Amino acid sequence: MDFHCHLDLYPDAKRVYVEALRRTEFIWAVTTSPRAFAATSKVFPAAQGLYISPGLHPEVADKKASELELLLSQLESCAGVGEIGLDGSTQYKYQFELQILVFRSVVQRCVELGGRVLNIHSRAAAREILDILEANPGFGSAVMHWFTDSPTQLRRAVELGCWFSVGPAMISSANGQKLSALMPRERVVSESDGPFAKVHGTPVMPWEADTVAAKLAQTWDMPAEDASKVLRSNGLSLARLLGMGTLRSPNAKA
Ligand code: MN
Repeated sequence: MDFHCHLDLYPDAKRVYVEALRRTEFIWAVTTSPRAFAATSKVFPAAQGLYISPGLHPEVADKKASELELLLSQLESCAGVGEIGLDGSTQYKYQFELQILVFRSVVQRCVELGGRVLNIHSRAAAREILDILEANPGFGSAVMHWFTDSPTQLRRAVELGCWFSVGPAMISSANGQKLSALMPRERVVSESDGPFAKVHGTPVMPWEADTVAAKLAQTWDMPAEDASKVLRSNGLSLARLLGMGTLRSPNAKA
C-alpha cells in the first residue's frame, strides 16, 4: 500500500497507473495543485484501490496561490487533502508566510467541514505545522509524510494523534530509522513518494512502498512478515478514514 504517491508525475504515468493497480492494494495519489487534481482525476479512471486528493504543495505556494479558492471548494467533496504543508528549507523559505496562509486556510476549512484526512509535507517546518494543527481542533486526521524533524516535534505529532507514512528512501537513512523507531507502530503506513523519492538513483514505484516492512521489522524487532501485517492493518484503517472501505487483494505481489 502506498499512502503518498505522485502518480501523475511519473514519466509514462498511465502505464504506472495500470501496473500499480495490479501490483498493490491501495494508492493515495496526492497532487501538487488544485488544477493538477482536476486533470489527474480525468486522466486516471476511478478504481477501487486508488484515492486521488487535491493539494497545493508548499514548494509551489507562490505559483499556485491563485488556486487556493478552488482547493477550498474541492475540499467539500473530498475526504482527503494533499499534498499540503510547509517547507522551511532555505530554498523555499522566501515564501514561508504565503505557505502559512495557504496551509492555515486549508486546515480551517477542514474544521468547518467536520474534519478531513490531511497528507502533510513538513520539511524544516514541523513546529509551525503542529502549531497550526493544535490551534485548530476538529481538523480531522493528519498523516505526516516523510517526517524528518526532531524527536521533540515527533513526540508532539504523536500526542496529536498523527499518522506517519514511511518510505524506502526515508528508511534508508540513519535519521529516518531513528525517527521511525519513535513512531507508534499502530500509526505507521508505507509510502513511495515517487517519482521524487529515489533509492540508488531510481524513482521508487508505488508497489515498492511495502518494502519498508523489512527495515521496520528490524527497528521493531519482529519478523518481516509481522511488520508487513502491521503495515497492512494500519493501512486498511487509514483507507477507511478516506472512505475506501472495500479494497481487493492485488492480483500479483511485488
Ligand atoms: Mn510528495
